[in-house]
Amino acid sequence: MDCLFCKIINREIPADIVYEDDEVLAFNDISPQAPTHVLIIPKQHIATLNDIEESQLATIGRLQFVAANLARERGFAEDGYRVVMNCNEDGGQTVYHIHMHLMGGRRFTWPAG
Ligand code: 5GP
Ligand code: ZN
Repeated sequence: MDCLFCKIINREIPADIVYEDDEVLAFNDISPQAPTHVLIIPKQHIATLNDIEESQLATIGRLQFVAANLARERGFAEDGYRVVMNCNEDGGQTVYHIHMHLMGGRRFTWPAG
């Protein structure tokens, strides 16, 4: 399949992997917007948030669980952090394999930046 993140899962292109289990992979974003900027993805290919099926809910919950564990490990869970999932064009999605952005290590503003 011609999907960038499936290729990372299959080790066809390199990535700086920070966590892996049977369902989920996490790796550093190539263009980090914060001291920690990790992308957490399901190993199963799901193109957008609109395509999640009920049978996949445990995996989707696992993305958040992994994000919180990484935040704790890196020491910013209590200070706080941001998780973002972009959907389709208006949401700013550029890679069509769902991913949770975990960003931490600095203070964020809302709604932008
Ligand atoms: P989106 O805009 O779809 O929410 O996020 C896609 C993210 O993937 C962007 O933050 C972008 O920097 C990151 N990205 C794009 N190509 C690559 C790549 O080849 N390797 C890694 N590690 N990250 C990538
Ligand atoms: Zn994929």
